[in-house]
Amino acid sequence: MMAIYRGRFAPSPTGPLHAGSLVAALASWLDARAHGGTWLVRMEDVDMPRCVPGADELILGQLALCGLVSDEPVVWQSVRSDLYQHALDALIVNGQAYPCACSRKDIETALLVRGLSRERHQTAVYPGTCRPERGGLHGKPARAWRFAVNAIQASVKWTDQRLGPQTQDVTTEVGDFVLRRADGLWAYQLAVVVDDAEQGITHVVRGEDLTDNTARQILLQRALGLPTPTYLHTPLVLGTNGEKLSKQNGAQALDLSHPLAALEQAAQVLGLPAAKADMPAQALEAWTRAWPA
Ligand code: GLU
Repeated sequence: MMAIYRGRFAPSPTGPLHAGSLVAALASWLDARAHGGTWLVRMEDVDMPRCVPGADELILGQLALCGLVSDEPVVWQSVRSDLYQHALDALIVNGQAYPCACSRKDIETALLVRGLSRERHQTAVYPGTCRPERGGLHGKPARAWRFAVNAIQASVKWTDQRLGPQTQDVTTEVGDFVLRRADGLWAYQLAVVVDDAEQGITHVVRGEDLTDNTARQILLQRALGLPTPTYLHTPLVLGTNGEKLSKQNGAQALDLSHPLAALEQAAQVLGLPAAKADMPAQALEAWTRAWPA
């Protein structure tokens, strides 16, 4: 008997699928099928200002052209606030979340005072200014909610199915990260952990650019008493400038006038042999057989 397998593809509808996101979609689908599992699509539309109206339906249409169809009704994060609030409340009750009054500028100033600066474009490690034991909000209005990383348990070790053993000390490398943003929106880290657990996800297969989030997500799972799925991070598709393809750096939408050709390209990135098929469904079948389960 094979253990239950539930996997997912969780695009943010900030634009159409690009070559990189198709790799993650294909890998998560193949891994689910090769394990006799269920494959879900979840629309990660919590960051509403970045979402593009209609991109969700566009992505679902693109996936369908490739033969990738969710086994269960698609879930949209934007209607799941109650679940995220419930998780935040549980963390607050346990003393694992606290309100924060710091603006980005406050954080940078606090780091400078301590002689710490940050590399350009990197997120600053939160200096803990609003931690309850350091005086909390200091009379200022709360802006965001942060997760209180417990320094003793913050060194997270986990094994990626492709990249091997990973370690991250969340205290020194990330700090107390945001759960609910100053603009009231739910942070990706909280939403993804709540949804993966609520949907019974056992295997997360996603792009390698997300690897760095895993330790934070494992800490949140532990704090909320949720199981940790198995993680597999897939190779990235690099643009001609050597940078990872993303919607942010203007990746072209996939040309799906020939879905099979787009799939073949994604499969190549995953190290799969050419499928020699006439239709996406046949190719998917061939790659499922070739996929290590
Ligand atoms: N929504 C995220 C993205 O599109 C993926 C999140 C995940 O797979 O955990 O980058």
